[in-house]
Amino acid sequence: GVAPEQNTEVKAWLAAHADGFGHFIGGAFTAPAAGASFEVLNPATGAVLAACAEGSTADVDAAVAAARKALPGWSGLPGHVRARHLYAIARLIQKRERFFSVLETMDNGKPIRESRDIDVPLVVRHFYHHAGWAELIEAEFPGMAPVGVCGQIIPWNFPLLMLAWKVAPALAAGNTVVLKPAEFTPLTALAFAEICREAGLPAGVVNIVTGAGETGAALAGHRGVDKVAFTGSTEVGRIIREATAGTGKKLSLELGGKSPFIVFDDADLDSAVEGIVDAIWFNQGQVCCAGSRLIVQEGIAARFLAKLKARAEKLRVGDPLDKSTDIGAIVAEVQLERIRALVEEGRREGSECWQASAPLPGQGFFFPPTIFTALAPASRLAQEEIFGPVLVSMTFRTPEEAVMLANNSRYGLAASAWSENINVALDAAAKLKCGVVWVNSTNLFDAAAGFGGYRESGFGREGGREGLYEYLAATPAKRVRKAAAA
Ligand code: NAD
Repeated sequence: GVAPEQNTEVKAWLAAHADGFGHFIGGAFTAPAAGASFEVLNPATGAVLAACAEGSTADVDAAVAAARKALPGWSGLPGHVRARHLYAIARLIQKRERFFSVLETMDNGKPIRESRDIDVPLVVRHFYHHAGWAELIEAEFPGMAPVGVCGQIIPWNFPLLMLAWKVAPALAAGNTVVLKPAEFTPLTALAFAEICREAGLPAGVVNIVTGAGETGAALAGHRGVDKVAFTGSTEVGRIIREATAGTGKKLSLELGGKSPFIVFDDADLDSAVEGIVDAIWFNQGQVCCAGSRLIVQEGIAARFLAKLKARAEKLRVGDPLDKSTDIGAIVAEVQLERIRALVEEGRREGSECWQASAPLPGQGFFFPPTIFTALAPASRLAQEEIFGPVLVSMTFRTPEEAVMLANNSRYGLAASAWSENINVALDAAAKLKCGVVWVNSTNLFDAAAGFGGYRESGFGREGGREGLYEYLAATPAKRVRKAAAA
């Protein structure tokens, strides 16, 4: 298990906030709102971790006003001074890596190995990378200016990492932000607010308002917000696109996916098995770019699936705080029910369903590694994002057919192609309609590489030079918005 002192620090922090969390507005935590609050659960145990304030329109108004007030000062700083703040944030998170990893795992249910070795290091890297950009931005983007006040709405699958993807580039480019974390997982964002204070970030540059969809809608629709950045479901992405249409707000959307994982018959099968395990069972499959559709060449399909099932039998499902756990808890009961319903539907449709046999923990929200075969390419299971540890598998005969099956999706976020013949892999890669194609690998992320989708996976890129365009306006900021709007 995890060293006891890690838990102690998190427990002490939660105990210190036993009265509930308020919002972080203008550099200070507001007292927990007199109004409604909601409970945040540990999905591995069902225990209540904290109570958070349900952000009202008045809260969103106050946060946007604070961000507006801070904007001239922050955007007017020389880039190297903004860089210093971002470096300080990166260093402070790095110093508290254990704290953030444990808190993230308790809040989200993901294995501690993932939060410790993947989420939090990538968060730190993202702030370091964008600190570098803050210094370069004037020289590298001549004639461009910050967009202004950014409303950022993020999901629960990578709570702190999605915050970093949103906040770091916005701040580097001289914007101020109001961020709304997902209602299932607001805790690391609130701990991040404390880091901002500790780093001496000027008040109002980062504001955090907690709450559910209504709070998000109030933020996305606020007249004082110049740019909306959203990551989450395609359904809510559509609502936000409609709500911002014709308002002049800049918009970026990072939505769902049903990413193909193509295995050609000459692939190194053992590596490909490890690849697909990571593609679909990393973070319980709750990953927008999860390789959730296995497309395997006919001649090797039976052998590949046998190897995969044997490997999946060895995955340890259980306590996310245990370092040897491979598969943790599903984020919330409602998501677990959604996964169950889709799996039942697949069974009813007559697809073959295989599940790992190890018993699940007696409490919390767990679901076993699951593989569907013999399903129609047009079936709901083959087309819809399940957002759980459920893989669907289909076969192909020719590379052309593989590409056709892969592109037979309303999404277009990521893909992975496996072959020992680089020509085969690269030829397929060029024909796949998605934002990223990994060859003989999967889930490779870096702060310097733009990430984002095509089609119903959204638009706009996050990370690197491309990502910065989302936070810069093509013309100097002449459009003065009335402060009264905020
Ligand atoms: P969601 O889209 O409902 O929630 C994402 C964020 O948007 C949350 O912060 C939520 O509070 C906020 N939100 C909800 N309604 C809103 C509205 N009308 N206006 C503004 N903000 C709003 O996603 P979910 O319910 O958490 O998950 C449902 C499905 O979304 C998942 O099963 C999965 O398919 C998909 N999903 C995708 C990603 C991704 O990274 N692409 C992440 C999470 C969920």
